[in-house]
Amino acid sequence: MQRPETEPLLKLRIDTDALVENWRALDTMSGKAKAGAAIKADAYGLDVQTCVPALRDAGCDVFFVAHWSEVPDVIAHVPGHQVAVLNGPVRDSDVLVAKDTGAVPVINSVSQARRWAENGGGLCHVMIDTGINRLGIAPTDLDDPSIVALDVDILMSHLACADEDSPMNAQQLRDYSACLDLLRYRRASLANSAGVALGEAFAFDVTRPGLSLYGGVPRKELDGKIRQVAFVDAAIMQVRHLKAGDAVGYNSEFVATQDMRVGTVALGYADGFLRCRGPGNYLCFGEKNLPLLGKVSMDMIVVDLSHAPEAREGDWLNVPFELREAALQSGLSQYELITSIGPRLRF
Ligand SMILES: *Cc1c(COP(=O)(O)O)cnc(C)c1O
Repeated sequence: MQRPETEPLLKLRIDTDALVENWRALDTMSGKAKAGAAIKADAYGLDVQTCVPALRDAGCDVFFVAHWSEVPDVIAHVPGHQVAVLNGPVRDSDVLVAKDTGAVPVINSVSQARRWAENGGGLCHVMIDTGINRLGIAPTDLDDPSIVALDVDILMSHLACADEDSPMNAQQLRDYSACLDLLRYRRASLANSAGVALGEAFAFDVTRPGLSLYGGVPRKELDGKIRQVAFVDAAIMQVRHLKAGDAVGYNSEFVATQDMRVGTVALGYADGFLRCRGPGNYLCFGEKNLPLLGKVSMDMIVVDLSHAPEAREGDWLNVPFELREAALQSGLSQYELITSIGPRLRF
């Protein structure tokens, strides 16, 4: 017997047209450079399956993931040689995965270069550290024979402070540019989303936007150029009437000072709506903002319906996911907001 279909109380809609327009806008801002796409962490939580084909069809042909485990889902949609693995070959088995999938490692150290060469090597990318001090080869190590021997496609570095007006940006640009004379390579790449906004001098041959593809605005130069991509709605499950003195949620953190109408909504921290999106944050009912009351629970939150007497059980409320605005509301970074959208929203 066929099971009856479940009807969701939560909706996530990914606007792939907006995603593609954002990629095109970033590609245009990159000048003569071509924009790739950072799609690590399942396209920042918005689903590789949905995002990668749209970006591919728009003309994107380099995709950056962090882990080797992320490669299979991506090569279902694009050729392996278009996938760059930022963590590089940390273990010998990573080289086997590279050979098997065709994905290209980003070599981050002399030891990774040796591991790559000893296991057969071939075309790779290289990350130079110019000051962020996470992964990457020090400029002074570029003359190591194991590095010189590499067959390098993209020679890249990563900006530490591109979302700020910091002297670090110009410093990294200088240090990176100086490295370009030290190694043979095919394409140069420095800019993430905020780096693209810093201007064409930062773009080189390939840019690597992530956040702004998905609607993030890390710098004001991107204002008006980037559209919201993720839209989340949650339904009111129950309408309640509080009396003055009634408390709401765990630890009774909200106490009504007067009689009021509230709604219990099917959204909680298990859906990525974290506790820091509690009081001070709101959901939207049409043009109306409905303030959150009390602590965010795992599966539900309570909102104030005092100013929305027309809201009924079953009605949909919009969860603010305009990333800059939601970041201001919650104190979370735009990156944390987008990547924490939970799997339960995916239906
Ligand atoms: C994540 C990442 C990007 C994308 O950065 P955004 O700030 O999301 O645009 C680019 N390059 C590297 C090396 C990264 O790790």
